Amino acid sequence: MKDKSVIKFIQAQLNARGLDAGTADGIIGPKTLAALNKVEAIPSDWSETRKAVGFVQLLAIENDIDPGKLDGYWGPQTQFTYESLVSLLIEGKEAELWRPEDLPDENPNNWPSQKQEENIIRFYGEIAKNQTNIDLPYPHTLAWEKSTTISRFLCHERVHDSLLRVLIRVLDHYGMHKIRNLGLDLWGGCFNVRSMRGGKRPSMHSWGIALDYYPSKNLVRWGRDRAEFAKPIYNMWWKFWEDEGWVSIGRQRNFDWMHVQAAKL
Ligand SMILES: [Zn+2]
Repeated sequence: MKDKSVIKFIQAQLNARGLDAGTADGIIGPKTLAALNKVEAIPSDWSETRKAVGFVQLLAIENDIDPGKLDGYWGPQTQFTYESLVSLLIEGKEAELWRPEDLPDENPNNWPSQKQEENIIRFYGEIAKNQTNIDLPYPHTLAWEKSTTISRFLCHERVHDSLLRVLIRVLDHYGMHKIRNLGLDLWGGCFNVRSMRGGKRPSMHSWGIALDYYPSKNLVRWGRDRAEFAKPIYNMWWKFWEDEGWVSIGRQRNFDWMHVQAAKL
């Protein structure tokens, strides 16, 4: 968010709503800050930068673009949101809107929502407990060590059966040859105790209920313009997960396309 062009954009938009941010020079000075302080939806105790980011998120909401949440933090979803706003407000093009509501909302296994950590703990137990080995229907290759192929890995016992059904359908549909071509065997990990990206809360990986695939072609910050998994050839791959209620962050939030989890957002 250090980018001057972002600040210039914010200043121009503040000016456009009559809040007098001064000349759009790409620097948050007293006038810009005063203008940001006049925006009611932005909490007054946020830092300058957070207010500026919050304003971008607010603009998104006003323009029917989903910014994730209005929290004043510049993550991949805000980046995507910003780019959509620029094309809409500056270039006058209809932004490529992300419409997660078009996705199926199946949840046959009643996966809990990650919004409240208590929900996750109630359903799955404490972090790092209740892990079991899954014997894979097709071999996986370690994405970070391609000479190593594995036939099992640890996952949470409550996702085991569902995960197995998904991978069996993947094998039936694509076959081993295509699986390799499409990187559906390039495994980036499952059970791993760590924090969420950009946050303090534990990642869903900490419970062994999230998996990463083909990370090198689905970098966390990439949106669907670059992520391999956004291509139509992967539609069935995602259908098999979504039929079981698994959530793709890529499909729903347009970043971290490598990641799929047995928890709702
Ligand atoms: Zn992940």
